[in-house]
Amino acid sequence: MIYNNTQQNIANRIEDQPKISNWKDWKWQMKHSIRSVDKFEELTGIKFDKNEKTELIETFEKFPLSITPYYLSLIDKKNFRNDPVFKQAFGGIEELTTLKSELEDPLSEDRDSPVEGITHRYPDRVLFHVSNICSMYCRHCTRKRKVGDIDFVPSKDQLQTGIKYIAENPQVRDVLLSGGDPFMLPDSKIDWLLSEISKIPHVEIIRIGTRMPVVLPYRITDDLVSILKKYQPLWINTHFNHPNEITSSAKEALAKLADGGFPLGNQSVLLADVNDCPRIMKSLLHKLVQNRVRPYYLYQCDLSEGLSHFRTPIGKGIEIMESLVGHTSGFARPTYVIDAPGGGGKIPVMPNYIISWSTNKVVLRNYEGVITTYKEPDSYEPKMCDRECEHCNLDLKMGEIDESEAIGIERLLSNKNDSISLIPEDNERISRREENAG
Ligand SMILES: *Cc1c(COP(=O)(O)O)cnc(C)c1O
Ligand code: SF4
Repeated sequence: MIYNNTQQNIANRIEDQPKISNWKDWKWQMKHSIRSVDKFEELTGIKFDKNEKTELIETFEKFPLSITPYYLSLIDKKNFRNDPVFKQAFGGIEELTTLKSELEDPLSEDRDSPVEGITHRYPDRVLFHVSNICSMYCRHCTRKRKVGDIDFVPSKDQLQTGIKYIAENPQVRDVLLSGGDPFMLPDSKIDWLLSEISKIPHVEIIRIGTRMPVVLPYRITDDLVSILKKYQPLWINTHFNHPNEITSSAKEALAKLADGGFPLGNQSVLLADVNDCPRIMKSLLHKLVQNRVRPYYLYQCDLSEGLSHFRTPIGKGIEIMESLVGHTSGFARPTYVIDAPGGGGKIPVMPNYIISWSTNKVVLRNYEGVITTYKEPDSYEPKMCDRECEHCNLDLKMGEIDESEAIGIERLLSNKNDSISLIPEDNERISRREENAG
C-alpha cells in the first residue's frame, strides 16, 4: 500500500508492482509526470468527450501540462470539475481566451531586467530566475508564457551573468531565487549557486521561492536540507492555495525545512472558485501556521493572458482580509497585495480602519465595528529631518548609513527637499507651464 487507495491505483497504472520507495522518489515522480490528456485519462480513469479533448490538447499546446503523480492523487475524481487541485493543475479551453486588458508580461519583468535572468525592481533586492521549469505547471501562473516554454535549465555560464550583476551592485542585500522552480535544479547546482551568491559580501540574505512542498514534497530530501543549511540565513517561501494541499507528505516536507532552521513563508494567489472564500482561506492559514509556515502574501491574480476565469474583484480580497483582521492570530494573516501592472511592484491593500482625523484625535474602527478614538500627544516636537544623519541627535549613528536619499512618497513626507508633489512625466499642464516660461 503506497499511502491511500488513489495513490496506489495511480502507481499501479504507472508500473507493475510499484514500490513505496519509488512513489517517494522525486525523480520517479518527475519521470512519470502527466504531460498529456491521454496519460491523464489513463491514470485517473476520467474520460473526456471528443470535443473537449480536442480543446484540451489545443490548450496544452499553448500552455504546457505537467502534473506529478503525487499532486494528481489529490484530485477528487468523483467531483473533479469542482476540485481545487484539478483547477490549478489541469485547466481547459478558458485559458485560450485573451482579454484586451491582459498582457504577456503584466509586471514588466522583462523591462526591469538589466541582464538575462535578473529582475531588478526594488532598490535593495533582486529576483533571480534560475530555471524556467516546474514539476507542476500551475494554470494560474503569472509567468505562463515563459515557464515551461522550452525546458530550459540555465547553464553555469548563464547563471554566472546574474551572479556577476549581483556582485557588481552593492545595494543588493537580498537575493530572491525564483523561476520556474529553483528546486528543479540538481542538488549540486543548487549548492554551487548558493555558494557563489553567499560569497558576495553585500548579500545579507537569500530567499528561495518554491512550490515543491505543495506539488512534489518528496523533493525536500535530507540531502537537500543539509546543502541548504550551509547557506543561512536562508528564507524559504512556498505556494499553498487550498487546505486540501496540506497533506501528510506536505507536512513532512515542511517539518524538514522548519527543523532545518529556515523561516518559512507562504504566498497564495486569490483564485476564483478555488479559494475565494473567507472560510477556505482561514482554514488554509490555520493549517499553515500549525506547520510553522507564516502566511506572507495573498496575491490578487495578475493580468497575465488566459487567467480571466481565475480573477476575482479586489473587493473579494478585501472581504477576506476583513474576515481575518482581529478574527484570527495576527501572524496567520498574509498581506494582500496587487502587483502593479507595468512593474510598480507590490501594493498592499486593506480594509479602511481610520474613519476620521483631526489635529489631535484619530477616529478608528475595529473588526467588530466598535468606533474608538485615539488621542494624539499635545506636545510632540516635530523633528525636522534633513537626512543629514551625522548631525542628528537621535542615536541613529549606525556607522554604515548608506542610503539616506528619500524616494517616492517617502520623499514627500521628508523635510529634506522642497518637493511638494510627484508629477507624471507627461503631464500636459506642467509642460504648458514650461512652454509659457520658455
Ligand atoms: C516580489 C518581488 C520581490 C520581493 O518583494 P518583497 O516584497 O520583498 O517580498 C523582488 N523583486 C521582484 C521583481 C518581485 O516581484
Ligand atoms: S510553481 Fe510558480 S513558476 Fe511554476 S508554474 Fe507554478 S506559479 Fe508558475
